[in-house]
Amino acid sequence: MTTTTTSALTTLQDWLDLRDQTSLPEAMWIDGTWDRGSGKTLPLTSPRDGAVIANVASADASDVDRAVRGARQAFESGVWSRIEPRERADVLIKWADLLDQNRDELALLLALEMGKPVSVAWNVELRTAPNTIRWYGELADKLYDEAPRGRNGAVALVTREPLGVVGAITPWNFPMTLAMFKIPAALASGNSIVVKPATQTPLSLLRAVELSAEAGLPAGVLQVVTGNGSVVGSAIALHHDVDALTFTGSTEIGKKLLTYAGESNAKPVSLELGGKSPNIVFPDAPDLDEAARMAAWAISFNSGQMCTAGSRLVVHEDIRDAFVARVVTHLEEHVIGDPLDPATTMGPMAYAAHRDDVLAEVGKAIADGATLVLGSDEKREGGLYVNPVVFTDVDPDSRLAQHEIFGPVLAVHTFRTEEEAIEIANNSDFGLGSAIWTSDLSRAHRLSRQIKAGMVWVNCYEEGDSSVPFGGRNLSGHGADRSVHGLEKYTTLKTTWIEI
Ligand code: NAP
Repeated sequence: MTTTTTSALTTLQDWLDLRDQTSLPEAMWIDGTWDRGSGKTLPLTSPRDGAVIANVASADASDVDRAVRGARQAFESGVWSRIEPRERADVLIKWADLLDQNRDELALLLALEMGKPVSVAWNVELRTAPNTIRWYGELADKLYDEAPRGRNGAVALVTREPLGVVGAITPWNFPMTLAMFKIPAALASGNSIVVKPATQTPLSLLRAVELSAEAGLPAGVLQVVTGNGSVVGSAIALHHDVDALTFTGSTEIGKKLLTYAGESNAKPVSLELGGKSPNIVFPDAPDLDEAARMAAWAISFNSGQMCTAGSRLVVHEDIRDAFVARVVTHLEEHVIGDPLDPATTMGPMAYAAHRDDVLAEVGKAIADGATLVLGSDEKREGGLYVNPVVFTDVDPDSRLAQHEIFGPVLAVHTFRTEEEAIEIANNSDFGLGSAIWTSDLSRAHRLSRQIKAGMVWVNCYEEGDSSVPFGGRNLSGHGADRSVHGLEKYTTLKTTWIEI
């Protein structure tokens, strides 16, 4: 276990020195060893400076097939699936400890591959990821099955069994956190798992998975196959020997996975997709400045590249001007710059095409007539940075209000009554996060029941821990990650009826 609460690396030079000492993982991880597949590679360009920092193995369908076979063999051998739950717990907890011990290196890899500031990588992603592994590890031997009363003369058992081989496909915005929302839950249940990270961000996961072997995870139980989604992701999703799919990413690809499942073995698919989360602020919020600080955080954390970004601020008209001014002030406090500098709070966008898409959306919103109060659609010199953008007078039906931009672009709406606030909040095809700021307990309960979202935060934003589900509804997906419910999608129910 790490004993420090902040990294010992406190300057840009410290992190540059670490970069010079660190070799980047470029091969896949199959059957407990590095694997280069056919030898084909994809260049990995760092959003930090546009430099190619690695050439990562580019798998094809035959590599996926090998990984799935290895995972199946490991599962059927019982080397993981049939050991004592306590032994699985020990391995997972040791793995979490190893992540803690290698926190600087993993933070460096996150900063290099996706431009996440090292301070955020260290304090957020590399806190959440090991904590999630540890939580599922601790849970592994504390689960109960059911023995319903049934009828006299019979014993009924309802047990949960691992599915077998799980396929996991993850995005680039939180490469460690989101992979670890899935991997330890699947492993704690006894499954093997084949993971395909996003093309932009394989490095941190590959290094983390190497550490799982050091923790004692048997070969083949956790496989990582790198390469393009259209090749590797689809091969996993279409594979007849993958028993379940777990996906975090865009709604567009999530829909494709449902099709792939139907075209192959009708495997169950759980989806964590996009969002357009409303953040509702009443004049009686307990602390309006805290609400404004969090409204700014909710749209700018991770440069707005967050599925739960509070991208629709729904504020009472009586306080709009003063509140928006406070949000703007907090947004202007960001230190935007080099992700390897510990002082940076906002890094670049994860890749150039995404930066261009975000700025194009800002341009469209300007053309549609929303009022721009902060930022612009101009490209910044010197990197893939996008300054925070705030629009007021946003039509709730406009593209700006409906489309997930996945950048630091805030749409402000106003309301007069609770009914209007709820109508605006629910005017979305998504249903992921939401927040309500009010001192009125009855109103908080009333509105939290009416909001169509998987998560409602009252007088906070994006709070939670491993004990509560994380997920959405409608176009934001289904089948939550985290918590005991996060195990459901990796297990199947079995009924055993015994006549006595
Ligand atoms: P994405 O384009 O959907 O990609 C996600 C993953 O799917 C990547 O690994 C990608 O591989 C892979 N993929 C692409 N095409 C595929 C195909 N045809 N078959 C199978 N897999 C395929 O999403 P993204 O741009 O990485 O991430 C941003 C999106 O994720 C946003 O919509 C965001 O809201 C959502 N997200 C949701 C949550 C949540 O918990 N609800 C959390 C974070 C992000 P390549 O990288 O090789 O293309």
